[in-house]
Amino acid sequence: MLSLDDIKQAALAVGFDDCSVARADALTDDEYPLREWLRQGWHGDLGYMERNVEMRLDPRLLVPGAKSVICCVSAYGPPDPQRTDGVAAYAQHREYHSVVKAMLFALRERLGIDGKVCCDTVPISDKHWAARAGLGWIGRHTLLITPRWGTWVNLGEIVTTEEVESEERRMENGERRTEVGDRCTRCHRCVDACPNHALAPDGPPMLDVRRCTAYYTTHQQRPLPPDVDTRGYTQGCDLCQLACPFNGIVKIHH
Ligand code: SF4
Ligand code: SF4
Repeated sequence: MLSLDDIKQAALAVGFDDCSVARADALTDDEYPLREWLRQGWHGDLGYMERNVEMRLDPRLLVPGAKSVICCVSAYGPPDPQRTDGVAAYAQHREYHSVVKAMLFALRERLGIDGKVCCDTVPISDKHWAARAGLGWIGRHTLLITPRWGTWVNLGEIVTTEEVESEERRMENGERRTEVGDRCTRCHRCVDACPNHALAPDGPPMLDVRRCTAYYTTHQQRPLPPDVDTRGYTQGCDLCQLACPFNGIVKIHH
C-alpha cells in the first residue's frame, strides 16, 4: 500500500501546496447535494451537469476498480487589489489550470502508478473530494475553504486503483491532520454579500447559477438579465469569497 506521507511529499516536490487522499467510494447526498441542486433547477442551462450524475458522485464509475482519490491543492491567492478591470481572482490566475494539469501528470509519473488525471473537464467534483480527503470544508458559498489559503485555490485529482493509506483511515486511527468541519453555522456573510441572493441561506451549500454573475460572464457569455447586479465585475465575481472570514487570514501573493 502506498503511504500518504510519500504521496504528499511527491506532490509537494512537483509543485503542489498540499495533498491528501480519500477512499474512492460514493459521496453521500449530504456531502454533495447534486441531485437536490438539479431537482431545483439551480444549474440553469448547464446541461452537462445532468449527465453522468452517478459518475459525479462515485469515482468507481469513472475508473473501474478505483480505490483512492489523490487530491491536490495549488494555491493562487486573493485578487490583486491594483486591478480595476472587474476580473475575478480565478481569472487573474488563469494559467494555473494548465499548470495544475501538468503537475498532476508529473505526480502520477513520479509515483509510478496508473490513474486518471482529473482537472476541469472530467465529471468529478474536485472540491467535494478535497473535503472528503480532509483538505478543507465546503462553505456556504459552495467553495472549498482550506485552513491556510482560504478559497483561493485550484484543485486536481488522480483517481487510481492503487490502495493508499487514506486521510479518512488516518482519522479513524485518531491521527486527524487538520480539524475541519462545518464552521459556517452562525455565519451568513457570503449570503449577505451576494447582491443577487444566489446562495442558499440555510441547508446544504447550494448556488443558484441563474442568479450568479459568474454564470453570465465566464466560459460562455450569456445575456445578462437586468436584475442581476454585477457590481462592476466583468469576468467572474469574488464578492462572496471576499466576505468570508476564512479568507481574511490569507496573505500569499504570487
Ligand atoms: S460569485 Fe458573486 S454573484 Fe455569484 S454567488 Fe458569489 S457573490 Fe453572488
Ligand atoms: S462567509 Fe461565513 S457562511 Fe459563508 S462560507 Fe465563509 S464562513 Fe461560511
